Amino acid sequence: MIEVKNLVKKYGGHYAVNDLSFELESGRIYGLLGPNGAGKSTTMNIMTGYIASTSGEVVIDGHNILTEAEEAKACIGYLPEIPPLYVDMTVLEYLVTVAELKKIPKKERQPMIDEIMRTVKISDMANRLIRNLSKGYKQRVGIAQALIGYPEIIILDEPTVGLDPKQIIEIRELVKSLGKKHTVILSSHILSEVSAVCDYVLIINKGKLVAADSTDNLEKLFLGQNNLELLVEGSREAIRDVLKNFKDIQSSDIQPAKEQPGSFRIQLQIAGEADIRRGLFYKFAAAHCPILEMQGASMTLEDIFLELTGAEKRGSGRRKAARQASEEAKA
Ligand code: ADP
Ligand code: MG
Repeated sequence: MIEVKNLVKKYGGHYAVNDLSFELESGRIYGLLGPNGAGKSTTMNIMTGYIASTSGEVVIDGHNILTEAEEAKACIGYLPEIPPLYVDMTVLEYLVTVAELKKIPKKERQPMIDEIMRTVKISDMANRLIRNLSKGYKQRVGIAQALIGYPEIIILDEPTVGLDPKQIIEIRELVKSLGKKHTVILSSHILSEVSAVCDYVLIINKGKLVAADSTDNLEKLFLGQNNLELLVEGSREAIRDVLKNFKDIQSSDIQPAKEQPGSFRIQLQIAGEADIRRGLFYKFAAAHCPILEMQGASMTLEDIFLELTGAEKRGSGRRKAARQASEEAKA
């Protein structure tokens, strides 16, 4: 349905997109996830024919976006990072203009626009000037223009950026409902958004694809990597000696516990499904190092994201960053 092959976009000596390839099937909601500057907008601009790639190919429903631009573009509705709104028009005037530009037959225009305004819930705003709308409503108008002509594929570049929490929830619900009739590709730098809305995630970083899988599979893939966090009283040497007994420990991080002098916070990454909690209990007890706290933590999508994009090193820093990222997303 959508094929992206070896896409490269160079700005001077800098690669905004660096050999990106993926194939998307119809009827799903895809999330293009990556930190700021990862190349999401560039990729979307190339996929929609807004800008040309340095090399590589985009094929939409069998049509090359460059050589059969008209056919390819007819399959796509696009909401770019900065919505192409004419702010001195009313919502209705603007949507009529878009319908004309998209060459929708005159008879079909009004019923189509009415239906789309109902879908994105802007019917009440039809005669308002776009410049007077709130950011959330402007974004809805932007989505409405993408829907004109009912293209099979809807591409939305960070549709919730800059919106307040209530508007974010509403736009996410809208995107989900669009997914029932369209193939949707949305970009986001917020992991919880992608995992809440999308069936399938493409993670890009520095212009490259670092992971592509269903939201469920990505979580499962990393579930095997169990993490344990402990607070243990004793010396660093004694703790190290105890940990040496466990071959399933892949990595350990031992830091003095600030709030509990004479104790250490230990982060363990454990292979596969191994459960070493009881073993740890007995061995630490035998070494006279009481365990004050022990908790398990499977990797969340946040952890996976940070791991894959190398945003933060393993250990507490990574977890802290993950927590911050998820709090940011909730805010
Ligand atoms: P994202 O949408 O993931 O935040 P972009 O696709 O906007 O990332 O940008 C990817 C990289 O390409 C960034 O490093 C950005 O600075 C660079 N870039 C994007 N557009 C241009 C441009 N017109 N000229 C030069 N560099 C650009
Ligand atoms: Mg962007």
